[in-house]
Amino acid sequence: MSLTAEEVIAKFKESGALLEGHFMLTSGLHSPVYLQCALVLQQPRDAEQFGRSIAEHFQTENIQTVASPAIGGIVIGHEVARALGARFIWTERQNGSMILRRGFSVAPGERILVVEDVVTTGGSTRETVTALQASGAQVVGAASIIDRSSGKADVGVPRIALATLDVASVDPSVCELCKRGEVAIKPGSRKT
Ligand SMILES: [Zn+2]
Repeated sequence: MSLTAEEVIAKFKESGALLEGHFMLTSGLHSPVYLQCALVLQQPRDAEQFGRSIAEHFQTENIQTVASPAIGGIVIGHEVARALGARFIWTERQNGSMILRRGFSVAPGERILVVEDVVTTGGSTRETVTALQASGAQVVGAASIIDRSSGKADVGVPRIALATLDVASVDPSVCELCKRGEVAIKPGSRKT
């Protein structure tokens, strides 16, 4: 059974992967929501269920290969590939460019699905799509567990997400929470 958007969000909250409050993101922007996807993917059984749910959208697309931007996309991309019976590869950034390394290659016309954990601006997915297309592959679509762009991110190919969050990330100068005098915290920097 495919997970509903509500079930996806519930799993994030249960695992502490979705925090609500007042946060400073890596980008420097402030947001009332912070996502740490690695926490929801700690249990392989949960990762497998997310993977199957994404795969269900692409069962009839003859996907030969799933490709993900490292590091964030690797766990979920691998699970989607398992569910589709496809090959799995990843791209990584070198000198600012997203490329295939480690001997990975794609064939001309190879049907590829690009999978990431969270789409915020869509930058990593879009760069992965572009790199694969430049190698001659046919990128059929893209997917993520969460879309936090309110559906706005354009990655150049059709895209789906298991759950879409409508949360603004704003410059601190216009942050409503800051105006109320609340201090933004940076969850990534906290050690537990
Ligand atoms: Zn703020």
